[in-house]
Amino acid sequence: MTSGTSTQTEIPIRTDVLIVGAGPVGLFAAFEAGVIGLSCQIVDTLGRIGGQCIELYPDKPIYDIPAIASCTARELVDRLMEQCRPFNPPIHLDQRVETVEQRDDGRWTVTTAQGLVFDTAAIMLAAGNGAFVPQRLALPEATPLEERFVHYSVRSLADFADKTVVVAGGGDSALDWALALRRVARKVVLVHRRNGFSAVASSVDQMKRAVDAGEMEFMIGSIAGLQMLDDKLASIEIRQIDGMAQIDADHLVVLYGLVADLGPIAKWGLEIVGGRINVDTSNYETNRPGVFAVGDIANYPNKQKLILSGFHEASLALRKAYAYAYPDKKRTHVHSSYDAGLAERITSSAAHDAA
Ligand SMILES: Cc1cc2nc3c(=O)[nH]c(=O)nc-3n(C[C@H](O)[C@H](O)[C@H](O)COP(=O)(O)OP(=O)(O)OC[C@H]3O[C@@H](n4cnc5c(N)ncnc54)[C@H](O)[C@@H]3O)c2cc1C
Repeated sequence: MTSGTSTQTEIPIRTDVLIVGAGPVGLFAAFEAGVIGLSCQIVDTLGRIGGQCIELYPDKPIYDIPAIASCTARELVDRLMEQCRPFNPPIHLDQRVETVEQRDDGRWTVTTAQGLVFDTAAIMLAAGNGAFVPQRLALPEATPLEERFVHYSVRSLADFADKTVVVAGGGDSALDWALALRRVARKVVLVHRRNGFSAVASSVDQMKRAVDAGEMEFMIGSIAGLQMLDDKLASIEIRQIDGMAQIDADHLVVLYGLVADLGPIAKWGLEIVGGRINVDTSNYETNRPGVFAVGDIANYPNKQKLILSGFHEASLALRKAYAYAYPDKKRTHVHSSYDAGLAERITSSAAHDAA
């Protein structure tokens, strides 16, 4: 399966269905698209697939996926990837869809903020609660320092070599990056508002051992202010229970977790209620014909935000999408158990993997 960060395209990528969101519902939609004979492309704003399953609860067991008594959220995503592998859907990561325009021929032009352009017959929004974006510091002085001295992710450890780095946060990312940064930075200080962490126990133990060994520092408090000198970050003010403290620092890495934001999709002329998109439950189409909403982003009476509901919604939506991609063709339904073409594709994909 081709997945990865794509660069700007001059020529639009033509497809039958553009699936926005590589969460569990988007991945299952890619499989279903293949089954009914539609090509698809997937985009996700994140740098990895899996949506909420991977971002919010990868190691928690899920018990209500039909015929799987129990599997972790990560295992579910692995299984969904395996299921859609025979169709090899291209997955474009780090791509946030921004604009949509319907052309005179009825097809859609969709662009991403990073410059990809798609030419698609139908759009399947499987965008969950919207794009995950990092929770930012609520300090006005942080904005002009972003990218240079205030970071919401770590792209390359080498950027922090021999620097003094403050890492803010108490979750998995904050601890993992603080531990990794201590190997290259001159000094690493982890700042978290309390002495309890939402990271896995093994990371917490490792961090405490690193602090005891003098490899990094830990401070309880919250980031209260940033001081600049010569257009560079100079020091960070920390609010603690017994007053303010100051740390001289070259970089601040803020890892407060992700928040969901519907973002540009909210401007697509769709009917949105409470951050979710109204659909017709006979085919999960929105008020814009050819644009579908499935999974957590779909809104209709008695909607349940469950993975299995999203699977059903995607399956019905794609059947309607087929009519947009192939208006002159009549699709006849074949049960997968009787679909010889599908069986052959799955068998040859398995043989290819085994070789
Ligand atoms: C802690 C927890 C436990 C849960 N347990 C269960 C359970 O046991 N059983 C169950 O059925 N459900 C469970 N759920 C709910 C389940 O995870 C969701 O129903 C499911 O993830 C919805 O899938 P989705 O594909 O619709 O959306 P998501 O998983 O939210 O994925 C949406 C994807 O779309 C991407 N995206 C959004 N906007 C854009 C954009 N503009 N451009 C590009 N990409 C975009 C996002 O980055 C994201 O990757 C749980 C949820 C949580 C938080």
